[in-house]
Amino acid sequence: MTDPLPSTPAYAPHAPAVARTSAALAARPDLVVCHECDAVHERIELARGTIARCQRCNALLGRGHVIGTEKLLAFAVASLLLILIGNSAPIVTLDFQGVVSQATLPQAIEATWAAGQPFVAVLTAATALVFPLVFTILRLYLLGSLVRGIVPRGFVPAMHMLVFVTRWGMPEVFMLGTLVAVVRCASLTSATPGIGLFAYGAVTLLITAITAAGTHTLWKRSGEIGGMA
Ligand SMILES: [Zn+2]
Repeated sequence: MTDPLPSTPAYAPHAPAVARTSAALAARPDLVVCHECDAVHERIELARGTIARCQRCNALLGRGHVIGTEKLLAFAVASLLLILIGNSAPIVTLDFQGVVSQATLPQAIEATWAAGQPFVAVLTAATALVFPLVFTILRLYLLGSLVRGIVPRGFVPAMHMLVFVTRWGMPEVFMLGTLVAVVRCASLTSATPGIGLFAYGAVTLLITAITAAGTHTLWKRSGEIGGMA
C-alpha cells in the first residue's frame, strides 16, 4: 500500500452563486467548480504529486502532474486510432469443428440486438463505443485548439460534456465482460481473442491514464491563454 498523495487544501471557497452559469465560468477561468456539490474555488498552481480536494465535500478537484497539453493531445490521437482499430478488427474468432466465425464490436452489438436483447445491445454500444468515442473527440477538439494557443468555441459546455461522458464511458467493463465470455466459450469451442480486443485493451489503459490526469491542465491552459489575450 502506498502513502496517500499530500492534499492541497488551498482552494478558497467563494459564493456558489457567483459562477454557476457557463457565461460566468467562461469569464472566470481562475475559478473551479466542484462537479459534486457546485462549490466554487479559486484555481491555484498544483505542484507535482499533490492533489486538491473540495473544501465542502472532499471531491477530487485537480491533480498536479507533468503531463502537458501536448502529451494529452498525443494520448487522445492514439486513443482515436485504437478505437477505430478496435471497431474494425475482430474482437474474437470462434472455431467450432472447422466452422470459423469472427465478429467486430459493431457486429456483436448488432447480433445482440437481433437476438432479442436490445437493452444489453444499447448499453454495450453506449458504454463501450459511443461514450469513449465522444470522450476522445471532445479531448481532440479541446486540446487541438489549446496547444495552438486558442481557447476553442464552446469551451465551457464542452468541458461539462467531457465530465459527463467520462462518468459513463466504461471500456474496462466491456473488456472484462468480453474476456469472461471468451474464457467460457473456450470450454465449448476454440475461442481466440482478436486484434480488436487487444486494441480495446490499449484504449482502456489510455483512457484510464487520460482520466487520471483530470481536466485541471485544460482549465489552467485556457486561463493562461485568456490571460494573454
Ligand atoms: Zn464539492
